[in-house]
Amino acid sequence: MSTLRFKAVEEAFKKKALCVTAPSKFTTDYYGKYVFTKSVMAKYLSKDVMKSLTNTIEKGKTLDSTIANDVATGMKMWAMELGATHYTHWFQPLTDGTAEKHDSFIDYAGAPGEAIIEDFSGKLLAQQEPDASSFPNGGIRSTFEARGYTAWDPTSPAFVVDDTLCIPTIFISYTGEALDLKAPLLKSLSAVDKAATAVCQMFDPNVKRVVAFLGWEQEYFLVDEALYATRPDLMLTGRTLLGHESAKNQQLEDHYFGAVPSRVASFMKDLEFEAYKYGIPLKTRHNEVAPNQFELAPIFGECNLAVDQNLLVMSLMKKIARRHGFRVLLHEKPFAGINGSGKHNNWSLGTDTGVGLLTPGKTPEENLLFITIMVNILKAVHKNNALLKASIMTAQNAHRLGANEAPPAIVSAFLGTQISAVLDKLENSTSDEAIVMDGKKGLSLGIAHIPEVLLDNTDRNRTSPFAFTGNRFEFRAVGSSANCSSAMATLNTAVAAQLIEFKAEVDAKIAAGASKQSAIFEIIKQYIKDSKAICFDGNGYSDAWKEEAAKRGLDCETSVPEIYKAFTSKESVKLFTETGVLTEKELYARNEVKWETYTKWIQIEARVLGDLVNNHIIPVCTRYQNLLLDNVSKIKTNFPAEKADSLNKLNNQLIIEIGERIATIKNAVDDLIDTRRQANKIEHEYEKAVAYHDKALPYFDVIRYNVDKLELIVDDEMWTLPKYRELLFIR
Ligand code: ADP
Ligand code: MG
Repeated sequence: MSTLRFKAVEEAFKKKALCVTAPSKFTTDYYGKYVFTKSVMAKYLSKDVMKSLTNTIEKGKTLDSTIANDVATGMKMWAMELGATHYTHWFQPLTDGTAEKHDSFIDYAGAPGEAIIEDFSGKLLAQQEPDASSFPNGGIRSTFEARGYTAWDPTSPAFVVDDTLCIPTIFISYTGEALDLKAPLLKSLSAVDKAATAVCQMFDPNVKRVVAFLGWEQEYFLVDEALYATRPDLMLTGRTLLGHESAKNQQLEDHYFGAVPSRVASFMKDLEFEAYKYGIPLKTRHNEVAPNQFELAPIFGECNLAVDQNLLVMSLMKKIARRHGFRVLLHEKPFAGINGSGKHNNWSLGTDTGVGLLTPGKTPEENLLFITIMVNILKAVHKNNALLKASIMTAQNAHRLGANEAPPAIVSAFLGTQISAVLDKLENSTSDEAIVMDGKKGLSLGIAHIPEVLLDNTDRNRTSPFAFTGNRFEFRAVGSSANCSSAMATLNTAVAAQLIEFKAEVDAKIAAGASKQSAIFEIIKQYIKDSKAICFDGNGYSDAWKEEAAKRGLDCETSVPEIYKAFTSKESVKLFTETGVLTEKELYARNEVKWETYTKWIQIEARVLGDLVNNHIIPVCTRYQNLLLDNVSKIKTNFPAEKADSLNKLNNQLIIEIGERIATIKNAVDDLIDTRRQANKIEHEYEKAVAYHDKALPYFDVIRYNVDKLELIVDDEMWTLPKYRELLFIR
């Protein structure tokens, strides 16, 4: 082993689990302590202010700007008691991370130079003006008009991290376009609320609001920090660009749900303590399928809050992992040949009357509503399958989708045998059997029996990107490093538009004389027929499915730059503009950012790969080749020619193989550099991204294939990069 690599492995081996102790024996003692929750607010705000703010948070009413000062004063007092000296608008630029600029509470009491006070006004709470010129914007904001605004999102509570009060905000340009992921998410939530409420009111006039819920499952890898530090590819790109599979990896299926290694267990505990302080209800933790892969999941919550909590958890994970001598890898595919990481987005809708719209009900009326929502969702997913795929696609996630038990890059929906049977039955029933809302005849369609059959519904298809799992859909194609907003905003918007269309169609039929029941029934029947192509309960990993999906007209595109085009199709522009979620200008700008980001990632990876090849792989292989050449001459001087020839046979084979592979690698690296040079001259972001995808990416495979072969034949002592077998097994 090379000295550096040996030292890193030795250090990783020596590490012991850190002893962590909970702030208190009872989670409830410290849960949410650093969050400005409703109960905390009640202590710091007057009754009137509290009432007005609650109306905004819980009933979706517009924020009354006159209360901002009072809220700010209360919030500051609370934060200062927890040790906060600074505040920040915490926002989500188009980078999949979060951004924050801290300002202290201090200000002059009067004229400059006079006494200092701690101040935090409603104005500072409500809006800030960070210099936005260094955030991706896709050409929306030219640098001479660099102003951007962050504006308070009162629906996600403020929290204190270390000495800083963090205020969740949206981020918009001077001219009002969204420059972040939260603004469209909020708009999509309001769109789906409005559309779904209108549909629910056809069944129950008491419904005043519909909320979207999200429960994310965060998958991740941990690697030892010492080993990580010796892998430039992991450090700079988040994934290993090289590395032969370990002889043993996940074949024995011995990691999933296995005993958590003690160092990891203490990391998890520490993370949970922190997350609980921020009111993040982490519920589940376990080993995932691949070695060193783990998962955590909270109890689901309101979608916007759940997204914020996921972002906070991701940053806590990074911080806390380091305390334990680990680095957390949130990349979708850190290691080739074994499972990648996703972030299953469990999504559902629920009413303010307490009905889960994706939970089969107890009465025929409830079930008709359930089926109505279900069928509309299927129709929306069918219509927008290309768009939904675009909403989760990145350079990173592309490595995961379709490989090693990840859902394929084709969006389809899994329903399970029972729901599929109910839909089939509905589709083939005649209007004579129409559902009667008073509760009796509905039984003839079997709808009332759904809850019973669902109890023993055990089919859990793991291969579907969008699976119904009893009371929710699980959007599994979302990547582990992603901000869930993109997927959630797209899904909410698609469903909102579909529900609006449905309501309009029902109303038209009623106006033409149909009864409400038969109107709903007829349209649902039609929708089931229309969206058949999206329903697939078979094996999503199979090649047969790819063929079948193409025949069904589903989007099977695999090139990332092409996939993004779904955002600017005529249908998508109509969808987003009519629901008021994103304007055409915003959609185009976002795609510019996506293409640019894609190009930059491939660029960075290509550079790192070039460096690794030139500075690690080729020198090491040449040294080993020299050793073999020495051996060849020594054998020649010590043995008669004929004997020497036979003894040198293997040496010569290896020397040739090394030479040839080095030549192939070197040529590929040089060609890759040339290709990038050409691609960099392209001005249009889309075309540049296409060039990177079509022309640059293929070299990665050639290089990796040959390097990984060399790893198998070169002296282990010389190899500088920690191997998969060392990176992947935490002791
Ligand atoms: P799995 O068996 O799919 O791995 P997990 O228990 O790991 O399930 O995670 C399931 C996630 O789904 C949790 O976050 C859970 O709170 C969430 N969830 C459960 N019911 C709903 C629902 N109705 N709507 C949204 N999310 C839900
Ligand atoms: Mg899970």
